[in-house]
Amino acid sequence: MRPGDEVVVALDVGGTGMKCALVRPDGTTVHTERHATAAQRGPDAVVETVLDVAEGLAGKAHAAGLTPVACGIAVPGVVDEPRGVAVWSANVGFRDVPLRELATTRLGLPAALGHDVRAGGLAEARLGAGRDGGHVLFVAIGTGIAAAHVVGGSAATGAHGAAGEIGHILVRPGGPPCGCGRAGCLEAVASASAIGRRYAELTGTPATAAEVADRAAAGEPLAVAVWRAAVDALADGLATGQALYDVATVVLGGGLAQAGPRLFDPLRDALRERLTFHREPRLVAAALGDEAGCLGAALLALDTVAKESR
Ligand SMILES: [Zn+2]
Repeated sequence: MRPGDEVVVALDVGGTGMKCALVRPDGTTVHTERHATAAQRGPDAVVETVLDVAEGLAGKAHAAGLTPVACGIAVPGVVDEPRGVAVWSANVGFRDVPLRELATTRLGLPAALGHDVRAGGLAEARLGAGRDGGHVLFVAIGTGIAAAHVVGGSAATGAHGAAGEIGHILVRPGGPPCGCGRAGCLEAVASASAIGRRYAELTGTPATAAEVADRAAAGEPLAVAVWRAAVDALADGLATGQALYDVATVVLGGGLAQAGPRLFDPLRDALRERLTFHREPRLVAAALGDEAGCLGAALLALDTVAKESR
């Protein structure tokens, strides 16, 4: 690396772990590290750890002869990106934390705060599987289901920082209870956790979504039924998404996307059946894995620098 090269400090803060990196303006990663979030310590302790880790990364950049120019942080929950405030998060416990200002003060650098899934979508749209797609819908399917709509290289945040909650599209009125308090949301039927839970209800045997996919592929009738129900619900949700967003590319990420053709083949067919005059989007697997959120945080930091130099 050349002395004086610019990098940004990037952190993706999750309920259990933080993925962190130093990233160059071209999106290449110079250094990565991971830390435990230990959210049970409470939000104040988590904020201190975030700031300590960010400061440590900036120090490592300096020590390597690099120049940190900005910091980007992605967090889960409801995020007010224009104000730089982590408004609310169930798994980290944030309540109105002005994280952008805290990071700017600690590091003496411009900072950006983003939402984890929107940051991941940004990275997939600009550097990953949606690179050639223009209008991209990134859908992360894991314990929940959330999405990011990326147009022109930026992810829509919504008026209240809560855009992209595709997991709470009502697909099965009166269906399984959702964590949000309503019944029949998409993520109550088709998230990886919901698939495992439904299979366990029917069979009395605990299983992960990946195991249900394996058993469905092997022809086990109850697994076939549970998998089919999830695929159909996802197709309903994505058809609604396509009616709203008319994207060129849908990028599926999160644990469930690792089911590969077992998910993508039937889902593509089911989505096609549901579309009438809307154009069928390209349906592809995410390319950046669990580093998407961290790379997205880096892109937000780089965008901040670009904006300030204009
Ligand atoms: Zn819900």
